[in-house]
Amino acid sequence: MNGKEFRQRLCAWFRRHGRDLPWRRTRDPYAIVVSEMMLQQTTVAAVVPYFERWMKRFPSVHELAAADESEVLALWQGLGYYRRARNLHAAATKVGGGLDGVFPRDYDGLRDLPGVGDYTAQAVRAFAFDESVPVLDANVIRVVARLFDIRTPVDTAKGLAKVRGKLEELLPAKGGHEFASALMELGALVCRAGRPDCLLCPVKEFCAAKHPEKLPVKAPKAPIKERTERAAWISDGETVLLQQSTARRWVGLWRLPPLDGEPLAGPAAELTYSIVRERVTLRIHRTAKRALMASAEPRRAFSLRELESIAIPSPHRRAIAKVLKDRFDHG
Ligand code: SF4
Repeated sequence: MNGKEFRQRLCAWFRRHGRDLPWRRTRDPYAIVVSEMMLQQTTVAAVVPYFERWMKRFPSVHELAAADESEVLALWQGLGYYRRARNLHAAATKVGGGLDGVFPRDYDGLRDLPGVGDYTAQAVRAFAFDESVPVLDANVIRVVARLFDIRTPVDTAKGLAKVRGKLEELLPAKGGHEFASALMELGALVCRAGRPDCLLCPVKEFCAAKHPEKLPVKAPKAPIKERTERAAWISDGETVLLQQSTARRWVGLWRLPPLDGEPLAGPAAELTYSIVRERVTLRIHRTAKRALMASAEPRRAFSLRELESIAIPSPHRRAIAKVLKDRFDHG
């Protein structure tokens, strides 16, 4: 492949068709880290308002480092995967403290920050410092696997190494910011998962894929497990009792108290949610406080108004909304 021509076509297309996203207007490494952490497992459309709110409240690493964790988690609410918010807070504390507010520029320094893996480190190098480095997100992996018709599963070390090697061959000598943005955008808008829009593709004449819709190949996954969780609804009509989790998944968040024994009545609400390789049915039962098992986790009754400003895991927030809606619909 003629790398120079490929890059020219790709970047010319990007300048015409690339979306104007708030994190593309900045070279501030702090803002780039915020956007990249938010974009992990969350769509661009969902992230934009969160990013804008966040940058208004915490415009630099110093404001974030000085904030209380409860406020950080509350602002993150709705994005899910709260570990990302905690990592961001911890990274800001590290940069704002020991590093005098200056983000590292080098790969190892960035990887030393909490929550910063290979992808985020390379994204910061490209988007904040314009370095020409391989930024391998899911979009880029898919595009490269198709361009070079790579049929080794890309979620194996061997497959990923092939993709990385081919991407490195394509990198420009300089201008890493635009190239990485353009390749990602091609994956997001044209070379999409499933059926790509090859007819509209600006680099189709460079593409070796015979059956692009079958790429990238993934290794077979273990089957999804089904599981049921039960939680208690204890309310006097004005308040709802919540329990602050110390478990790893939702540490620090307030959720409906878990019910271990047999519940007293049928569920007041039921919903499902997914976590890695699991599909969980969450059932909420009206019950009395005395039915709860003893727990070292703090419990507190929150007024309905207070519920809006505390960090609650998204499935529990949905469950609370369901029970309350049912109450208002029928009461
Ligand atoms: S031609 Fe199709 S498969 Fe190849 S890069 Fe373009 S959109 Fe993707």
